[in-house]
Amino acid sequence: YYNNDTILYLDGEYLKATAATTDLFGQSLHYGYAVFEGIRAYKTANGEVKVFKAKEHFDRLKRSCELIHIPYNFDNDELIAACYKVLEMNNMEEAYIRPLVFCPPNMTLKAASKSNILICAWEWGAYLGEKLLRIMTSSFERPNPKAFQIESKSAGLYVNSILASQEAKQKGYDEALLLDMNGNVAEGPGANIFFEKDGKIFTPPPGNILPGITRATVIELCHELQIPLEEKLFTIDELKQADAAFFCGTAAEVVGLESIDGQTFAKPWASSLGKVLQQAYKAKVLEKTFQREAQLA
Ligand code: PMP
Repeated sequence: YYNNDTILYLDGEYLKATAATTDLFGQSLHYGYAVFEGIRAYKTANGEVKVFKAKEHFDRLKRSCELIHIPYNFDNDELIAACYKVLEMNNMEEAYIRPLVFCPPNMTLKAASKSNILICAWEWGAYLGEKLLRIMTSSFERPNPKAFQIESKSAGLYVNSILASQEAKQKGYDEALLLDMNGNVAEGPGANIFFEKDGKIFTPPPGNILPGITRATVIELCHELQIPLEEKLFTIDELKQADAAFFCGTAAEVVGLESIDGQTFAKPWASSLGKVLQQAYKAKVLEKTFQREAQLA
Protein backbone atom coordinates (compact mmCIF):
# COMPACT_ATOMS: atom_id res chain seq x y z
CA TYR A 1 0.00 0.00 0.00
CA TYR A 2 2.92 2.33 0.47
CA ASN A 3 6.66 2.54 0.17
CA ASN A 4 9.41 4.95 1.23
CA ASP A 5 8.33 7.52 -1.36
CA THR A 6 4.57 7.43 -0.79
CA ILE A 7 2.97 10.78 0.03
CA LEU A 8 -0.29 11.13 1.92
CA TYR A 9 -2.50 13.98 3.08
CA LEU A 10 -2.94 14.46 6.82
CA ASP A 11 -4.90 17.40 8.25
CA GLY A 12 -3.96 19.85 5.54
CA GLU A 13 -0.38 18.71 5.02
CA TYR A 14 1.30 16.45 2.50
CA LEU A 15 3.67 14.08 4.25
CA LYS A 16 5.67 10.97 3.56
CA ALA A 17 3.64 7.94 4.66
CA THR A 18 6.69 6.70 6.55
CA ALA A 19 6.92 9.98 8.49
CA ALA A 20 3.22 10.40 9.35
CA THR A 21 2.26 9.31 12.85
CA THR A 22 -0.83 8.87 14.98
CA ASP A 23 -1.58 8.44 18.65
CA LEU A 24 -2.01 4.99 20.20
CA PHE A 25 -4.61 6.28 22.67
CA GLY A 26 -7.29 7.23 20.17
CA GLN A 27 -10.91 6.11 20.19
CA SER A 28 -10.58 5.08 16.56
CA LEU A 29 -7.93 2.48 17.24
CA HIS A 30 -9.52 1.19 20.43
CA TYR A 31 -13.22 1.30 19.59
CA GLY A 32 -13.34 1.31 15.80
CA TYR A 33 -14.77 4.83 16.08
CA ALA A 34 -13.74 6.17 12.68
CA VAL A 35 -15.31 6.67 9.29
CA PHE A 36 -13.84 6.07 5.86
CA GLU A 37 -14.49 6.15 2.15
CA GLY A 38 -13.31 4.10 -0.80
CA ILE A 39 -13.04 6.03 -4.05
CA ARG A 40 -11.50 5.27 -7.42
CA ALA A 41 -9.65 7.50 -9.85
CA TYR A 42 -9.57 6.55 -13.52
CA LYS A 43 -7.61 7.75 -16.51
CA THR A 44 -10.50 8.79 -18.72
CA ALA A 45 -10.83 8.50 -22.49
CA ASN A 46 -9.29 11.92 -23.14
CA GLY A 47 -6.28 11.13 -20.95
CA GLU A 48 -7.41 13.17 -17.94
CA VAL A 49 -7.37 11.58 -14.48
CA LYS A 50 -10.80 11.84 -12.84
CA VAL A 51 -11.89 10.91 -9.33
CA PHE A 52 -15.18 9.12 -9.99
CA LYS A 53 -18.18 10.52 -8.06
CA ALA A 54 -15.84 12.47 -5.78
CA LYS A 55 -18.61 14.73 -4.48
CA GLU A 56 -20.91 11.80 -3.68
CA HIS A 57 -18.15 10.03 -1.75
CA PHE A 58 -17.21 13.09 0.30
CA ASP A 59 -20.87 13.87 0.96
CA ARG A 60 -21.25 10.33 2.29
CA LEU A 61 -18.08 10.73 4.39
CA LYS A 62 -19.60 13.80 6.00
CA ARG A 63 -22.94 12.10 6.58
CA SER A 64 -21.21 9.00 7.96
CA CYS A 65 -19.47 11.22 10.53
CA GLU A 66 -22.64 13.09 11.43
CA LEU A 67 -24.52 9.84 11.99
CA ILE A 68 -22.02 8.71 14.62
CA HIS A 69 -21.25 12.15 16.11
CA ILE A 70 -17.72 12.59 14.78
CA PRO A 71 -17.13 16.30 14.13
CA TYR A 72 -16.58 17.09 10.47
CA ASN A 73 -14.83 20.43 10.13
CA PHE A 74 -13.52 19.85 6.62
CA ASP A 75 -14.30 21.48 3.33
CA ASN A 76 -15.19 18.84 0.79
CA ASP A 77 -13.95 20.89 -2.18
CA GLU A 78 -10.56 21.15 -0.48
CA LEU A 79 -10.57 17.41 0.23
CA ILE A 80 -11.37 16.63 -3.40
CA ALA A 81 -8.49 18.89 -4.47
CA ALA A 82 -6.29 17.02 -1.97
CA CYS A 83 -7.22 13.71 -3.66
CA TYR A 84 -5.96 15.02 -7.00
CA LYS A 85 -2.81 16.35 -5.37
CA VAL A 86 -2.10 13.01 -3.65
CA LEU A 87 -2.50 11.23 -6.99
CA GLU A 88 -0.22 13.72 -8.69
CA MET A 89 2.45 13.61 -5.98
CA ASN A 90 2.50 9.82 -6.17
CA ASN A 91 2.46 9.76 -9.99
CA MET A 92 -0.74 7.75 -9.95
CA GLU A 93 -3.39 7.71 -12.66
CA GLU A 94 -5.68 4.82 -11.79
CA ALA A 95 -5.84 4.35 -8.05
CA TYR A 96 -8.01 3.58 -5.07
CA ILE A 97 -8.30 6.54 -2.71
CA ARG A 98 -8.92 6.08 0.99
CA PRO A 99 -10.07 9.05 3.10
CA LEU A 100 -10.25 8.20 6.82
CA VAL A 101 -11.66 10.42 9.54
CA PHE A 102 -10.35 9.40 12.94
CA CYS A 103 -10.44 10.74 16.47
CA PRO A 104 -7.73 12.07 18.80
CA PRO A 105 -6.66 10.54 22.14
CA ASN A 106 -9.62 9.79 24.40
CA MET A 107 -10.31 6.53 26.17
CA THR A 108 -13.91 7.35 27.15
CA LEU A 109 -17.07 6.38 25.32
CA LYS A 110 -18.07 10.01 24.84
CA ALA A 111 -18.57 11.28 21.32
CA ALA A 112 -15.47 12.90 19.87
CA SER A 113 -15.05 16.66 20.02
CA LYS A 114 -12.36 16.77 17.33
CA SER A 115 -11.30 14.67 14.40
CA ASN A 116 -8.43 14.23 11.97
CA ILE A 117 -8.44 13.36 8.32
CA LEU A 118 -6.10 11.19 6.31
CA ILE A 119 -6.23 10.71 2.55
CA CYS A 120 -4.00 8.07 1.03
CA ALA A 121 -4.06 6.19 -2.27
CA TRP A 122 -2.67 3.03 -3.78
CA GLU A 123 -2.91 1.12 -7.01
CA TRP A 124 -5.52 -1.63 -6.68
CA GLY A 125 -6.92 -3.98 -9.32
CA ALA A 126 -10.55 -5.17 -9.23
CA TYR A 127 -10.97 -6.01 -5.54
CA LEU A 128 -12.86 -9.29 -6.04
CA GLY A 129 -11.00 -10.16 -9.23
CA GLU A 130 -12.37 -10.33 -12.76
CA LYS A 131 -13.71 -13.87 -12.79
CA LEU A 132 -17.21 -14.92 -11.77
CA LEU A 133 -17.58 -15.41 -8.03
CA ARG A 134 -18.84 -18.43 -6.15
CA ILE A 135 -20.51 -17.00 -3.08
CA MET A 136 -22.14 -18.49 0.01
CA THR A 137 -24.87 -17.35 2.34
CA SER A 138 -23.03 -16.18 5.42
CA SER A 139 -23.86 -17.45 8.88
CA PHE A 140 -23.23 -13.83 9.96
CA GLU A 141 -26.05 -11.32 9.49
CA ARG A 142 -25.53 -7.66 8.66
CA PRO A 143 -25.71 -5.57 11.84
CA ASN A 144 -29.21 -4.73 12.98
CA PRO A 145 -29.98 -1.09 12.08
CA LYS A 146 -31.38 -0.76 15.60
CA ALA A 147 -27.93 -1.57 16.98
CA PHE A 148 -25.90 0.75 14.78
CA GLN A 149 -26.06 3.59 12.27
CA ILE A 150 -25.59 1.13 9.44
CA GLU A 151 -25.64 3.80 6.73
CA SER A 152 -22.49 5.25 8.26
CA LYS A 153 -19.42 3.76 6.60
CA SER A 154 -17.81 3.27 10.00
CA ALA A 155 -14.61 1.37 10.62
CA GLY A 156 -16.05 -0.76 13.44
CA LEU A 157 -18.79 -2.09 11.21
CA TYR A 158 -16.19 -3.78 9.04
CA VAL A 159 -15.36 -6.45 11.61
CA ASN A 160 -18.69 -7.96 10.55
CA SER A 161 -17.46 -7.88 6.94
CA ILE A 162 -14.14 -9.48 7.85
CA LEU A 163 -15.90 -12.30 9.72
CA ALA A 164 -18.21 -13.02 6.79
CA SER A 165 -15.40 -12.92 4.20
CA GLN A 166 -13.15 -15.10 6.31
CA GLU A 167 -15.88 -17.69 6.81
CA ALA A 168 -16.54 -17.81 3.06
CA LYS A 169 -12.86 -18.24 2.25
CA GLN A 170 -12.44 -20.92 4.88
CA LYS A 171 -15.29 -22.84 3.29
CA GLY A 172 -13.75 -22.58 -0.16
CA TYR A 173 -15.96 -19.80 -1.58
CA ASP A 174 -14.81 -16.53 -3.11
CA GLU A 175 -17.05 -14.28 -1.07
CA ALA A 176 -19.97 -14.10 1.34
CA LEU A 177 -23.51 -12.80 1.03
CA LEU A 178 -25.11 -11.54 4.21
CA LEU A 179 -28.77 -11.49 5.14
CA ASP A 180 -30.45 -8.78 7.16
CA MET A 181 -32.01 -9.33 10.57
CA ASN A 182 -35.30 -10.41 8.95
CA GLY A 183 -33.68 -13.03 6.76
CA ASN A 184 -33.82 -11.03 3.54
CA VAL A 185 -30.76 -10.65 1.35
CA ALA A 186 -28.78 -7.54 2.34
CA GLU A 187 -25.35 -7.25 0.71
CA GLY A 188 -21.82 -8.60 0.45
CA PRO A 189 -19.10 -7.71 2.97
CA GLY A 190 -18.01 -4.82 0.71
CA ALA A 191 -20.47 -4.70 -2.17
CA ASN A 192 -24.16 -4.41 -3.00
CA ILE A 193 -26.05 -7.17 -4.79
CA PHE A 194 -28.31 -7.19 -7.86
CA PHE A 195 -30.02 -10.05 -9.68
CA GLU A 196 -31.74 -10.53 -13.02
CA LYS A 197 -35.01 -12.39 -13.48
CA ASP A 198 -37.11 -12.47 -16.67
CA GLY A 199 -35.47 -9.42 -18.19
CA LYS A 200 -35.70 -7.30 -15.06
CA ILE A 201 -33.10 -6.24 -12.49
CA PHE A 202 -33.71 -6.35 -8.72
CA THR A 203 -31.78 -5.03 -5.72
CA PRO A 204 -32.64 -4.59 -2.03
CA PRO A 205 -33.93 -1.12 -1.07
CA PRO A 206 -32.06 1.08 1.41
CA GLY A 207 -32.76 0.29 5.05
CA ASN A 208 -30.55 -2.65 5.88
CA ILE A 209 -27.65 -1.96 3.51
CA LEU A 210 -24.90 0.54 2.83
CA PRO A 211 -26.42 2.71 0.09
CA GLY A 212 -23.56 2.20 -2.33
CA ILE A 213 -22.48 4.86 -4.77
CA THR A 214 -21.82 2.16 -7.38
CA ARG A 215 -25.32 0.82 -6.67
CA ALA A 216 -26.71 4.31 -7.41
CA THR A 217 -24.66 4.43 -10.62
CA VAL A 218 -25.94 1.01 -11.71
CA ILE A 219 -29.52 2.16 -11.05
CA GLU A 220 -28.82 5.29 -13.13
CA LEU A 221 -27.44 3.08 -15.92
CA CYS A 222 -30.55 0.88 -15.84
CA HIS A 223 -32.65 4.01 -16.40
CA GLU A 224 -30.37 5.25 -19.19
CA LEU A 225 -30.36 1.86 -20.92
CA GLN A 226 -34.08 1.30 -20.30
CA ILE A 227 -33.46 -1.85 -18.32
CA PRO A 228 -36.42 -2.41 -15.97
CA LEU A 229 -35.32 -2.18 -12.36
CA GLU A 230 -37.06 -2.72 -9.04
CA GLU A 231 -35.81 -2.18 -5.49
CA LYS A 232 -37.41 -4.80 -3.28
CA LEU A 233 -36.67 -7.16 -0.43
CA PHE A 234 -36.05 -10.76 -1.43
CA THR A 235 -34.94 -14.02 0.14
CA ILE A 236 -32.05 -16.33 -0.66
CA ASP A 237 -34.54 -18.75 -2.23
CA GLU A 238 -35.69 -16.06 -4.64
CA LEU A 239 -32.07 -15.21 -5.45
CA LYS A 240 -31.39 -18.88 -6.18
CA GLN A 241 -34.15 -18.80 -8.80
CA ALA A 242 -32.57 -15.76 -10.50
CA ASP A 243 -31.26 -15.94 -14.06
CA ALA A 244 -28.03 -14.15 -13.14
CA ALA A 245 -26.61 -11.91 -10.41
CA PHE A 246 -23.76 -9.53 -9.67
CA PHE A 247 -22.02 -7.60 -6.90
CA CYS A 248 -21.06 -3.97 -7.28
CA GLY A 249 -18.93 -1.56 -5.30
CA THR A 250 -16.21 1.01 -5.82
CA ALA A 251 -13.40 -1.47 -5.20
CA ALA A 252 -15.13 -4.46 -6.83
CA GLU A 253 -16.74 -2.45 -9.67
CA VAL A 254 -19.35 -4.74 -11.33
CA VAL A 255 -18.52 -8.43 -10.93
CA GLY A 256 -20.67 -11.36 -12.00
CA LEU A 257 -21.66 -14.22 -9.70
CA GLU A 258 -21.33 -17.79 -10.84
CA SER A 259 -23.17 -19.51 -8.02
CA ILE A 260 -24.70 -19.13 -4.61
CA ASP A 261 -24.25 -21.97 -2.10
CA GLY A 262 -23.05 -24.17 -4.95
CA GLN A 263 -26.11 -23.52 -7.12
CA THR A 264 -25.09 -22.07 -10.48
CA PHE A 265 -27.10 -19.22 -12.00
CA ALA A 266 -28.97 -20.35 -15.10
CA LYS A 267 -27.97 -17.67 -17.58
CA PRO A 268 -24.43 -17.41 -18.92
CA TRP A 269 -22.87 -14.18 -17.64
CA ALA A 270 -21.91 -13.21 -21.20
CA SER A 271 -25.58 -12.89 -22.20
CA SER A 272 -26.85 -11.38 -18.95
CA LEU A 273 -28.00 -7.82 -18.27
CA GLY A 274 -25.28 -7.71 -15.62
CA LYS A 275 -22.67 -8.01 -18.35
CA VAL A 276 -24.25 -5.09 -20.22
CA LEU A 277 -24.23 -3.06 -16.99
CA GLN A 278 -20.63 -4.09 -16.27
CA GLN A 279 -19.54 -2.73 -19.65
CA ALA A 280 -21.69 0.36 -19.29
CA TYR A 281 -20.16 1.00 -15.85
CA LYS A 282 -16.63 0.65 -17.21
CA ALA A 283 -17.51 3.05 -20.04
CA LYS A 284 -19.00 5.53 -17.55
CA VAL A 285 -15.97 5.66 -15.26
CA LEU A 286 -13.71 6.05 -18.28
CA GLU A 287 -16.05 8.67 -19.79
CA LYS A 288 -16.41 6.65 -22.97
CA THR A 289 -19.64 6.47 -24.93
CA PHE A 290 -21.56 3.25 -24.59
CA GLN A 291 -24.16 1.89 -26.96
CA ARG A 292 -26.11 -1.04 -25.63
CA GLU A 293 -27.16 -2.16 -29.12
CA ALA A 294 -23.54 -2.29 -30.18
CA GLN A 295 -22.83 -4.55 -27.21
CA LEU A 296 -25.62 -6.95 -27.98
CA ALA A 297 -24.94 -7.07 -31.71
N1 PMP B 1 -21.83 -2.46 0.97
C1 PMP B 1 -20.78 -2.48 1.79
C2 PMP B 1 -20.90 -3.16 3.10
C3 PMP B 1 -19.57 -1.86 1.40
O1 PMP B 1 -18.51 -1.88 2.20
C4 PMP B 1 -19.49 -1.24 0.13
C5 PMP B 1 -18.19 -0.61 -0.30
N2 PMP B 1 -18.10 0.71 0.12
C6 PMP B 1 -20.62 -1.23 -0.68
C7 PMP B 1 -21.78 -1.85 -0.23
C8 PMP B 1 -20.60 -0.56 -2.00
O2 PMP B 1 -20.52 0.84 -1.82
P1 PMP B 1 -19.86 1.79 -2.91
O3 PMP B 1 -20.47 1.42 -4.21
O4 PMP B 1 -20.23 3.14 -2.46
O5 PMP B 1 -18.40 1.53 -2.90
